[in-house]
Amino acid sequence: VPMTLADMIPVPDLGPKKIKLFWQTLGITTLAGLQEAARAGQLRALPGMGEKSEAKILAGIESLSRRTGRTPLEKAWPFAEEQLALLRGVKGVVAAEVAGSLRRMRETLGDVDILVAATLPELVMAAFTTQGAVARVLGGGPIKSSVEFTNGMRAQVWVHPPEKFGTALQYATGSKDHNVRMRELALKQGLSLSEHALTPVDGGAEILCATEEEVYARLGIPWVAPELREDRGEMAAALAGTLPRLVTVNDLHADLHMHSTWSDGKATILEMAQAARARGLRVIAITDHSHSLGIVQGMKPEDLAARQMEIDAAQAEMGDSLRILSGVEVEIKADGTLDYPDEVLAGLDVVIASLHVSLRQPREQITERLLNAIRNPHVDIIGHPTGRQIPDRDPADLDMDAVLAAAKESGVALEINANPRRLDLNDVYARRAKELGIPLTINTDAHAPDQLALLHFGVAVARRAWVEAGEVVNAWDSEKLLGWLKAR
Ligand SMILES: [Zn+2]
Ligand SMILES: [Zn+2]
Repeated sequence: VPMTLADMIPVPDLGPKKIKLFWQTLGITTLAGLQEAARAGQLRALPGMGEKSEAKILAGIESLSRRTGRTPLEKAWPFAEEQLALLRGVKGVVAAEVAGSLRRMRETLGDVDILVAATLPELVMAAFTTQGAVARVLGGGPIKSSVEFTNGMRAQVWVHPPEKFGTALQYATGSKDHNVRMRELALKQGLSLSEHALTPVDGGAEILCATEEEVYARLGIPWVAPELREDRGEMAAALAGTLPRLVTVNDLHADLHMHSTWSDGKATILEMAQAARARGLRVIAITDHSHSLGIVQGMKPEDLAARQMEIDAAQAEMGDSLRILSGVEVEIKADGTLDYPDEVLAGLDVVIASLHVSLRQPREQITERLLNAIRNPHVDIIGHPTGRQIPDRDPADLDMDAVLAAAKESGVALEINANPRRLDLNDVYARRAKELGIPLTINTDAHAPDQLALLHFGVAVARRAWVEAGEVVNAWDSEKLLGWLKAR
């Protein structure tokens, strides 16, 4: 049996019997061959097949290639953390960092690149390539190895001498365009910047940099956070001394979007509250779904009183250590109205309005739906504004200029949903919102206690959007935050 047949197993709607059939009747042994045959209409005539099942297989191959083309941050991040922990424990290792898109916290990435500063490269290569989860070694040498893991991830490790680690990490972090600007700046100062060193063009001695901070300092500018290195104005800001003081996870005291067993959450209000306090939060909002969202059991307005009793009981348990707000994630229905009447919304501490259904409406219609919600005076937050999901659901076709203008006018906060499958708003829209002075809020949308840990993914989007703590509602002190909510 050809090994490449196994590549077809992950295709949705395609079982081993069919794979065998295609191989034995048409001699198809590769995924590419299968795609070609499906496109040419050769599968439909086979026993048990038809036009529909052929189209399904073709769609399956396409969704698979879209999914495997780039790895979502959700999968790459914990994998990279494990690899770093392993490598940092190897004898002679001074530092280990991810580089590339992952260090810049792009929402999807190709392979995971890891740079190691070490005095004994052979030990690093051995530890990396012989760990249990390695499926195969794709290539390697004394200071570089490339490996595929059993979970499908691919990673490369480079070892550099500690005294050159700064230039190497700066180079490997990218982006390409940022590095072009860096080399231009270096050349203006008579230096050639490479991954190994800064070298005077007139032939002086190489300048080695053990840290990235030294690389930037040698060029007379402050260190630029990796999330900013996209050639979106960061070099000019660095030269002018106007780089933003980017928001950090530690700046956030509140999480204003999470679910409990009152809708589709897995945990009680008290369990969510305890988990939030353990993470150092001071304020949370329980924002269960409203009932018209048919796919999950939502909350009817008449459930609110009973839920409030559970909130009160949890609040009594938590005392002053954590404030629990009563909220809802109210559905923006297909006709543009909200799922709860205004008088119900008026009685809640936090109202998030979100689109979940009819996301493929034409631009004018779906934009109008969102504008209705933005203009409702009881709505505090627009949840995951564009409705996209990574990797397979595109954002709704919204007129974002109109959305941002309306948000600015109404003072509603726009969410950066921290779930790595959403990251919505994305970095580009979040930066536009910031520039317009629209308040932003970073929330986990947790459906279970452990998902409260996802906050840092939302913070990464905010950082890529140049956002500072003062621009994020969750970073305000409790008094200011509660005052803002009350005034709305
Ligand atoms: Zn939602
Ligand atoms: Zn939600």
